[in-house]
Amino acid sequence: MHNPAQNQDLVRRSLSSVWHPCSQMKQYENFPLIPLERGKGAWLYDFEGNRYLDAVSSWWVNLFGHSNPRINAAVREQLERLEHAMLAGFTHEPVVELSERLRGLAPEGLGHCFYGSDGASATEIALKMSAHYWRNKGHPDKTRFISLKNSYHGETLGALSVTDVALFRDAYGALISQQATVASPDTRLAAPGESGEDHARRCARALDEHLARHRDSIAAFIVEPLVQGAAGMAMHHPVYLTLAREICSRHGVHLIADEIAVGMGRTGTMFACEQGNISPDFLLISKGITGGYLPLSIVMTRDEIYQAFYDDSSARGFLHSHSYTGNPLACRAALATLDIFRHDDVLNANRKKVEYLNSISANLRELPMVRNWRNTGMIWAFEIASTGDRLAQRCFQLGLQHELLLRPMGNTVYFMPPYIVDEEEMQLLVGRTERVVEQLA
Ligand SMILES: *Cc1c(COP(=O)(O)O)cnc(C)c1O
Repeated sequence: MHNPAQNQDLVRRSLSSVWHPCSQMKQYENFPLIPLERGKGAWLYDFEGNRYLDAVSSWWVNLFGHSNPRINAAVREQLERLEHAMLAGFTHEPVVELSERLRGLAPEGLGHCFYGSDGASATEIALKMSAHYWRNKGHPDKTRFISLKNSYHGETLGALSVTDVALFRDAYGALISQQATVASPDTRLAAPGESGEDHARRCARALDEHLARHRDSIAAFIVEPLVQGAAGMAMHHPVYLTLAREICSRHGVHLIADEIAVGMGRTGTMFACEQGNISPDFLLISKGITGGYLPLSIVMTRDEIYQAFYDDSSARGFLHSHSYTGNPLACRAALATLDIFRHDDVLNANRKKVEYLNSISANLRELPMVRNWRNTGMIWAFEIASTGDRLAQRCFQLGLQHELLLRPMGNTVYFMPPYIVDEEEMQLLVGRTERVVEQLA
């Protein structure tokens, strides 16, 4: 179905009816929308047969490619049985099985799964649950939260209160309850001569000092373990997680691990927390959990937190809900995703892919404009040393010309490909990114 008219037609209709996310709509005058007809594997296709390698996993959600036959089949089968039903007062197989499987996979002690839809709703749930826990426990003053500098935890108002990205926050400052931030262990911020690990230890001391002063008013510390995604793939040493766990426990403050982006094998282990050898009080999962198919988010909690709500009084219960909580189709897509992890030994297979991509990246890393090349699991990032105007947009446009879907954040270019990316596609990705970077010069 290669019909050139369809590309233009769809773009025109979209601009006159759809308000696109994360966009200044006027910019589409200069940087046109890309109409998509279909997706297959790591590739997205428009109506004219142009293709784009999805190097950002469609905003970090896709794990096993577009239109994956195994996930398709699972969702199709579920569709014939139960598409959706309310989860209050009812239950169904997909949600039970998924909760059981996640308990087996997650760090120890996280016994119950609470379901939301998007990542931001998981953040909201964790913040509410944490403060409500302290209230149930007779500490109604513990209502504050802290996060890392440059943190990102979603864009609803509660999630924005722990998100430190000025561009997303500033217009809504008056609507958001201002929360404190502590120094980010981002390795790029290490002092000259200081190792990433030493920098992480220094930041943990700052966290310790902050909690020592304010622990009575703080319910929880929320962190993106190992990689702060929206901060520009800011990576840190895992010792920070180990220390943060110990510090939060010592001060009686919950630790919320937001693994919405880094969970599901993205950093090389199923969950990033494993690399710090810790178990958080709340674990947030979304994005890749359904393989990038359907919106689903999960808040896993420690048993002792669950117990603090278990009571004869309704008001002590957690009454939060979303209409599509625990949607069976989404849970089924998640189960199919977990099946693929197990069946294909994905974590080990990814290790080989990481080695391969690193082995072919020497030319790219050594380009004069490339700075801070870094890698954690299936995430690679670097900065482009240029003060050029609209660098991110020019890079995005050049990428498209080379059949790449790159979506830089400021000067940071990153790769976060689906796990099914093969050697040929990795060569194409790295080789063409070299050309893009050279053309940006
Ligand atoms: C994407 C993301 C969120 C928000 O998820 P949405 O589904 O976009 O609401 C929260 N935290 C982190 C770390 C994320 O990367």
